[in-house]
Amino acid sequence: MTLDSWCSAPRSRCNAPLQRQVIVSQKRIIVVGGGASGLIAAGQAAEGGARVLLLEKKSSPGRKLLLTGKNRCNLTNTDDVREFLRHFNPKGKFLTQLFYHFFNAELRAFFEELGVPTVEQRGGRVFPESERAQDVVDALVRWASAKDVEIRTRSPVTGLIFEGNSIKGVRTAHKEHYADAVVITTGGAAYPGTGSTGDGYKLAKSAGHTIVPIRPALVPLLTKGDTAPRLQGLSLRNVQVNLWINGEKEDDIFGEMLFTHFGLSGPIILTMSGQIVDELRSGNRVEISIDLKPALDHPTLDARLLRDIEKMHRKEFKTLLEGLLPRKLIPVCIEETNIPARKHNHQITAEERKRLRLWLKDFRLEVSGHRTLNHAIITAGGVETSEVDPHTMESKLVKGLFFAGEVLDVHGDTGGYNLQAAFSTGWAAGRGARGQGSRGGGARGQGSGGERERGAEERGRNE
Ligand SMILES: Cc1cc2nc3c(=O)[nH]c(=O)nc-3n(C[C@H](O)[C@H](O)[C@H](O)COP(=O)(O)OP(=O)(O)OC[C@H]3O[C@@H](n4cnc5c(N)ncnc54)[C@H](O)[C@@H]3O)c2cc1C
Repeated sequence: MTLDSWCSAPRSRCNAPLQRQVIVSQKRIIVVGGGASGLIAAGQAAEGGARVLLLEKKSSPGRKLLLTGKNRCNLTNTDDVREFLRHFNPKGKFLTQLFYHFFNAELRAFFEELGVPTVEQRGGRVFPESERAQDVVDALVRWASAKDVEIRTRSPVTGLIFEGNSIKGVRTAHKEHYADAVVITTGGAAYPGTGSTGDGYKLAKSAGHTIVPIRPALVPLLTKGDTAPRLQGLSLRNVQVNLWINGEKEDDIFGEMLFTHFGLSGPIILTMSGQIVDELRSGNRVEISIDLKPALDHPTLDARLLRDIEKMHRKEFKTLLEGLLPRKLIPVCIEETNIPARKHNHQITAEERKRLRLWLKDFRLEVSGHRTLNHAIITAGGVETSEVDPHTMESKLVKGLFFAGEVLDVHGDTGGYNLQAAFSTGWAAGRGARGQGSRGGGARGQGSGGERERGAEERGRNE
């Protein structure tokens, strides 16, 4: 589709080629944002022959997609639906129906068809076989373009146009673009350098939608003191992290974590971070307790320490620790247990052995805060899901307005969950916008479907 087909003058003054002007019965759909959900929504919307214009703010689509999975793009996860949904905030149940229509198997088959076969890796994570996020973006852009989706970059949408309680189009800096349906796929507000700067929330608000307050999720944590910075770069595998709120144990997760120059990061910390952000905002005291020997209960660990001490009874305490801990942790352990490094193992008292055991099972750091949305992988909060039809993604407030992706108040753990949510909601919104929802109806049960004679026009100047 050429630029002329979306000419900005009223039809009477439009100097577009005649053959373009006579196509007035085609449904026109505008997709706002060319990320994961927007690209799939645009391609889906175009399936039935609708004319689709995708407006992307940045100079190229899929900027965030390129960063995903450390540029390898963890597309989805092989969990079954029930387990998959457990990895979302409570609003994740909004996705249930969608997942019965377009889920991980369908997504993998879709990419396979686009020439991007996928592979399953550790933890059920699914990546493109090439391990290149670029291949995913290229395939989506090729697919959408082959369906005549016009992708216009450097075109930030600044407002929506309404007529009563129906959508009429969108505004960019210098133009008004008219359409029968508009799909908002602007992402969240995390990693704003990729283009997702929270515009979708303002657009949704202008349509009367409730925005659940946004905050960072899957975000690294700041800790008190200099313990974490001293351990910067140390990654711990097979540890159990226990979350303590106001002195009560609330949760525990087994896996991998990382010390950084500001605090803590890594998979289990990111997974816990959503809850931690909320606890900190409520003024609660948050502590992370690391169980460095989760496979050993207290009696078994004590027996192991006794055995080691006996075996190395002429050696110094720090030598005993070499068999128990990564090198970087040894000085911290010595300091926190207050056992002299040069003390001979046979001189270690029962009380000192107990202190060591308790520390190994409960190495504690107090959380003082979290990094900002600039460093968060995902945004929690967003468009209130109860105001969106879970089958078609159509707004229940404004006819012809659709939402998909991170702009919705749905967020999941690391492991491919968020991209699947973006693809599934984008897929449904594209279908919904062209009137092919997984169930009829939409805003006030009318659906946005059906070719309308009105067509769509754009006013203003050409971009
Ligand atoms: C570093 C990093 C790694 C990640 N890795 C993974 C992973 O491996 N697996 C996983 O499942 N999830 C991952 N995620 C999360 C995942 O990338 C997002 O959940 C997903 O991209 C959301 O898709 P979206 O389409 O809603 O938004 P986005 O992909 O953010 O796309 C939104 C698009 O809208 C455009 N836009 C915004 N405002 C406007 C406007 N006003 N007008 C026009 N265009 C606009 C933006 O420029 C952008 O291109 C990662 C996130 C980050 C930050």
